[in-house]
Amino acid sequence: MLLYDNHNHSQFSFDGKRTTVEKSAEGAKARGLAGICFTDHCDFHVPPMKAEHEHLVKEEFDIAAQQAEIDAVSARLPGIRIFKGIEMGLYRSCRDRIRNLLSLWNFDEVIASVHYIDDTDPFYGGYYQGKDWKQAYGHYLETIYEEMVWLGDFDIMGHYDYVARYAPYPQASILYRDFSDILDPMLEYLAHEGKAIEINTKTYQDHNGRTPVLDSNILLRFKEFGGEFISLGSDSHDPERPGDKFGYYAGYIGSLGFRYLTHFENRKPVPLPIG
Ligand SMILES: [Zn+2]
Repeated sequence: MLLYDNHNHSQFSFDGKRTTVEKSAEGAKARGLAGICFTDHCDFHVPPMKAEHEHLVKEEFDIAAQQAEIDAVSARLPGIRIFKGIEMGLYRSCRDRIRNLLSLWNFDEVIASVHYIDDTDPFYGGYYQGKDWKQAYGHYLETIYEEMVWLGDFDIMGHYDYVARYAPYPQASILYRDFSDILDPMLEYLAHEGKAIEINTKTYQDHNGRTPVLDSNILLRFKEFGGEFISLGSDSHDPERPGDKFGYYAGYIGSLGFRYLTHFENRKPVPLPIG
């Protein structure tokens, strides 16, 4: 089966210092992947708590340099396809800049993600203060939904369960039954618009003693709405993680009745049969 890793960071991401396009592409090839897409971070608004730790005011990357590097590495590394992507951080007050940037560049794939919310960075914890798990997760899901519907111009909804990765609550997973009122319109929108849901395998590992799980009921509901496109992404920031747990999750979604795994080329979905 041809496996593509649709979510990877390189030296062009602010947090990509542990790898390069070349090293991660070589790592992906060594693990037998057919392709890898580099989706470096673009967040136009960085909340103060993050800026303080990382000394960054924005996380825009040099798109021209990244795309030139991808062309150069592709030319000298046969046997794997390398795609040009971006992980666009959605943030309401940056809407105009987001749309403008996406209109200026050609990508193979655009991931729409929410990393920062209400001027906080969940990674540093501030977002959760004064909220119980239901409020914290629910408001995050509502925010993704509002911003992605506004944007429209994207291919993959990135890590909808990112908010659970670093949360302080015992409830480590986003379950359909707890958020069906928010997930239903989200999944219906994605299905009807031909967008992909990402299975982000970085979420499903230990984070401070908690391991979030993927709820099959979310994927099954997506399928009920007619959704077919699921993309695998490792969210790698080093050469060892591309393709992490892909064999397992490919089998898993096949067992749920999905027929394809999908990657994107020149902003078009390419569904390939599972199995
Ligand atoms: Zn992300």
